[in-house]
Amino acid sequence: MELKGFVLRSKQIGNRLRHITVFTDKLGKVDFIAKIKRGEFPLKLDLFSLSTFKVVQKGENYELQRALLIRSYFPDTVEKFIYLSKISKLLLPYQLAANQKLFKLIENYFSAGDSFRVAYTMFLLKFTFVEGIFPALTKCVGCGSRQIYSFSIERGGVLCLRCAEKNDIPWSSDLSKLSVNLAKNSFEKMKKEKIPLQKLDKINTVFENHVRFRLS
Ligand SMILES: [Zn+2]
Repeated sequence: MELKGFVLRSKQIGNRLRHITVFTDKLGKVDFIAKIKRGEFPLKLDLFSLSTFKVVQKGENYELQRALLIRSYFPDTVEKFIYLSKISKLLLPYQLAANQKLFKLIENYFSAGDSFRVAYTMFLLKFTFVEGIFPALTKCVGCGSRQIYSFSIERGGVLCLRCAEKNDIPWSSDLSKLSVNLAKNSFEKMKKEKIPLQKLDKINTVFENHVRFRLS
């Protein structure tokens, strides 16, 4: 089978073996063990590379037979490295099925060249959307009220003051509007808006927890 995929983790295990985790077009997220020649540091198996992988199924595992680099996204700045690492860390803990929209999303956001803070939050929001777990943000999930007071991870959406529970995270209709805007619009458009980093941090906290709760 021939796959295309983004390398999300690449770990040397011993002299000649590399354990890589890849988000692929046809199998979703998979792990391969790759054999490496002595002294070789192949870019095609390196972090953030987009490569083709020829694999053969052996029981429950896939054996990598051949790989070919399509494009390396390896960053030339620390800021971009941190950004790409955050995207990888977001995706690594979960079993992710093949999803063309997610594949395209990774491709688009791996290509971001600046405004990494807003790019990460946008990736996070759009990721929940393409995985079908975008939370209810406009009305209280308890009673339908539009008076938004908090976000409930357990209930997957916002709550009003009357329905709020003690483990909720503080939230507002302003943050809901911003989240919807970031999820719907293009990066090119949103990176021009002056969005306070504090707001991005609040959205990140809620959505990272939401993803963990929904996908674990
Ligand atoms: Zn309510």
